[in-house]
Amino acid sequence: MRLLVVEDEKKVASFIKKGLEEEGYAVDLVSDGKTGLTMGLDGVHDLIILDLNLPRIDGLSVLQKLRKRKVATPVLLLTVRAAIEDKVIGLDTGADDYLTKPFAFQELLARVRALLRRRAEAESPLLQVADLTLDPATRLVSRGDEKIELTTKEFALLAYFMRNPGRVLTRTMIAEHVWDYDFDPMTNVIDVYVNYLRKKIDAGGEAKLIHTVRGVGYVMKVE
Ligand code: CA
Repeated sequence: MRLLVVEDEKKVASFIKKGLEEEGYAVDLVSDGKTGLTMGLDGVHDLIILDLNLPRIDGLSVLQKLRKRKVATPVLLLTVRAAIEDKVIGLDTGADDYLTKPFAFQELLARVRALLRRRAEAESPLLQVADLTLDPATRLVSRGDEKIELTTKEFALLAYFMRNPGRVLTRTMIAEHVWDYDFDPMTNVIDVYVNYLRKKIDAGGEAKLIHTVRGVGYVMKVE
């Protein structure tokens, strides 16, 4: 995963770059809008973190120009407190999310992960396990001919299971992929959600697809 950070405040920029690199991302850092635009137009990045207030070309103009040139790279805008209008305009212009300064690194990381996950889901093909199908693009889920309605969380959980058929998923793995950084792994939330999901996908006497691995977690498989 390669990220582009466009931020002119040296302290903020190095804090973001250092933190993201520690998380395993490759980070290109530039400090003005003009260079940011040039690099963004290359389309090689998986995500752009874009400050609004930048020298040479401001962040909003960079975003406008990227979208005008059909660059669909997800953009996370960095704004300063109280500039609500900036946020609204930013989202209208095609930003995918925004974060208000000052922010905790964990919050930035959570947003980055969510945006990258969303992008990956949108790009991947139809998932199928037995007669259960999940379409990441349209978010339609069905078992046989039966359509299944899921909440956002249930959908994310099912997608994670379906991307890893036959693999035992521990509660920690599930928490890291489906819940946010502040999730408390000591609660039974995961078990509760797995049960919701089971009731929806295994209803009506079909072969069960989600199996409990006692003391470890869960596995999706056809028996
Ligand atoms: Ca700035």
